[in-house]
Amino acid sequence: MTEFWVGTSWKMTKTLGPAREFARGLRARRDWPVRPFVIPPATALATVAAELGPDSPVRLGAQNAHWEDAGAWTGEVSVPQVADAGATMLEIGHSERREHFAETDERVNLKVHAALRHGLLPLICVGESAEVRRAGGAAEFVADQVRMALAGVPDAVPALIAYEPIWAIGAAGRPAQPEAVAEIAATVAAAAGARATVLYGGSVDLGNAVDLALVPGIGGLFVGRAAWQVSDYLSIVDRVG
Ligand code: PEP
Repeated sequence: MTEFWVGTSWKMTKTLGPAREFARGLRARRDWPVRPFVIPPATALATVAAELGPDSPVRLGAQNAHWEDAGAWTGEVSVPQVADAGATMLEIGHSERREHFAETDERVNLKVHAALRHGLLPLICVGESAEVRRAGGAAEFVADQVRMALAGVPDAVPALIAYEPIWAIGAAGRPAQPEAVAEIAATVAAAAGARATVLYGGSVDLGNAVDLALVPGIGGLFVGRAAWQVSDYLSIVDRVG
């Protein structure tokens, strides 16, 4: 297995039947040329964990968790709860959560600390809007997001940072250009230091995965829609592995 990460978040898709089917496809796979991870909805975490079994090389993540360990936060789940269900990593700050659920940079930082308190690997999503990019401020914007997300986190603590430009998410075959990804990967590395592995996400698919995987400074791919069938996910793994 190389150090190159390839993972997918299912967002708000899949009931337990399709989740189980995906997990069985993962379990049937013996050799992994990459570091695989899957981020199901919270309702499917325990089921996917059980299907994969205790020694699976596939890491499981949660799409969100609250920064408090417990309390009167109706409708939320905590880091200890998602860890209990099988998550060993936590996605934080996806642009959909920033836009629709008031996930501010301050809350992203609180969640990073909550993940680390409980031994989960943070997968922090950053990325600029089309307006910010047009105005020439993408690198500075992303660097600020990274610095705020990691405030108070010691340098030696590892984290994954997914560069996901908002304008490239769900953009059907129009990811960021490799040159733009390389520039931001260098920016993130400068802001985060050696502890960070930079992933790219945003309309990755089977056709463009290799080009994006070869971008200097990129240590993984974070795939959405194009990997929601297990056979498609495994094809991308094979293509870049
Ligand atoms: C995402 O939303 O994080 C994502 C990468 O989605 P897609 O690949 O579907 O653009």
